[in-house]
Amino acid sequence: MGLELATGRLADAINWARKYSLFQYPFVTACCGMEFMALWGPRFDVARFGAEFPRFSPRQADLLMVVGTVTERQAPVLKRIYEQICEPKWVVAFGVCASSGGFYQNYSTVPGIDHVIPVDVYIPGCPPQPEQVLDALIMLQQRIQEGRGWSQRQQPLEPAAQRQGKRPPRP
Ligand code: SF4
Repeated sequence: MGLELATGRLADAINWARKYSLFQYPFVTACCGMEFMALWGPRFDVARFGAEFPRFSPRQADLLMVVGTVTERQAPVLKRIYEQICEPKWVVAFGVCASSGGFYQNYSTVPGIDHVIPVDVYIPGCPPQPEQVLDALIMLQQRIQEGRGWSQRQQPLEPAAQRQGKRPPRP
């Protein structure tokens, strides 16, 4: 009981630190990029969430922001970049094109990046309003804190007793 309490609190502290130190890798392909750049200016102050610094190497990032339409030719590149990001990592689909392919229903467009990589948060809109993106960031932070990010669920930060199968894992 004591060990579980201690490791549970340690996991909470680690997730708290993670959610306020997001380093995003912007994978920007299309017109959503204009709104994305505006959002990362001082007016909307994303620094409040600890997520303002872009990293242009996936090895230095933990948040993949997929902004805009992704074509079938770009899909292997996106997957490769995702694989290069260290665990734990999170993915946000920025805009309706990244989320579902949007109105591009043709042979060349990926109908949503979740056909290629796992996605944690989807942001609708064409392009999304800045307030929607801030809302999505807060939602992502909640998921990180609760250990509900996709990659966190693959390797949970749980007490050792649970990892060894002495207790059933959390659903
Ligand atoms: S969602 Fe709209 S603004 Fe964003 S990439 Fe697609 S068409 Fe462009």
